[in-house]
Amino acid sequence: MVQTAPTDTDADRSSAGTLQYCALKPRSLPAQPPGMPAPRYEAIIQGRSQWVNGTVLHYHFLASAPGGAEQEQAVRDAFDEWKSVGIGLRFTEVAAASEAELRIGFVQGDGSWSYLGRDALQISQTERTMNFGWDLTSMQGRSTALHEIGHALGMPHEHQNPNAGIVWDEEAVYAYLGGPPNSWDREKVYQNVLRKLSPGEVTGSNWDPNSVMEYEFPGGLVISPEGYREGIYPPGTLSDLDRQFVRTWYPGGQAEELPLLEPFVSMPLDLQPTEQFDAAIRPDASREYSIGTFGESDVVLVLFEEVDGELRFLAGDDDSGEDRNALVKVKLFAGRRYVVRVRLYYAGASGRSAVMLW
Ligand SMILES: [Zn+2]
Repeated sequence: MVQTAPTDTDADRSSAGTLQYCALKPRSLPAQPPGMPAPRYEAIIQGRSQWVNGTVLHYHFLASAPGGAEQEQAVRDAFDEWKSVGIGLRFTEVAAASEAELRIGFVQGDGSWSYLGRDALQISQTERTMNFGWDLTSMQGRSTALHEIGHALGMPHEHQNPNAGIVWDEEAVYAYLGGPPNSWDREKVYQNVLRKLSPGEVTGSNWDPNSVMEYEFPGGLVISPEGYREGIYPPGTLSDLDRQFVRTWYPGGQAEELPLLEPFVSMPLDLQPTEQFDAAIRPDASREYSIGTFGESDVVLVLFEEVDGELRFLAGDDDSGEDRNALVKVKLFAGRRYVVRVRLYYAGASGRSAVMLW
């Protein structure tokens, strides 16, 4: 519940004692098409921000951090901490920005922020997908590093969970964040604090005030629940529900031996929403292949090639929200090994889908 003294948080305390806050980059969500049932739309919105499990996320530091190696090490430590939860994603630092899905800057004065999950793929390869605008070596700074990586894994701000039932003193919030050191305009305050997320943007039905994705707030901003009038003070570490969230989307300990997807043999996608099908492909001829799904389901299909023992992205297709199936056409080479992963967003009316190589 409410702690008596503020501890560390994803926010940072300026010299004046006022907290500095993360500003998540806005998402461009498609509107709900007329006639699409809400559960399907919500499942699509939720799934689109998540990476397929098993992805190796490559990260790159775009420029040296002011304060040097310690800042970069704090980010590496935060990646290690998320990995230690036992998830099926891997994080690898790379020397080239062009090979990195996550490009990290340390531009001071630009605040700390990230894009949400796979939205990072829409950003030009020379630009940052994450920034750290303050010292990461304090307890608060370490919390910031965990928090921004949480966004990169697809986690939104917890205080915007519609199930939190927070009633804000809105003008007090605008005034608090509009002043230094944050100096946010009203739109930024609305997008990052006051706006309630739609059901599709949150995972889990309950508010988790201990989440690393929850901001710390001083007293005087929350009208109700009454217990938070004196402020919200998350511990700034990974909560049980944070761990549960990433294990749900990225379960660890997958089987080493994947089933083999043979040409012209369809394999059923016997999946619950959020679950994933994985299979290996070992072509016996070098030629152009098609890999596609059948059925009414909404899925993302991603093909990886094994290079030096590591799976590299080769092609992908996302059919969610469309009346078509995921399909990639790509030349595969005899003797090489590929892995196809299909994540189900929504099962569709028949509930039956399949994947095939031809
Ligand atoms: Zn944030």
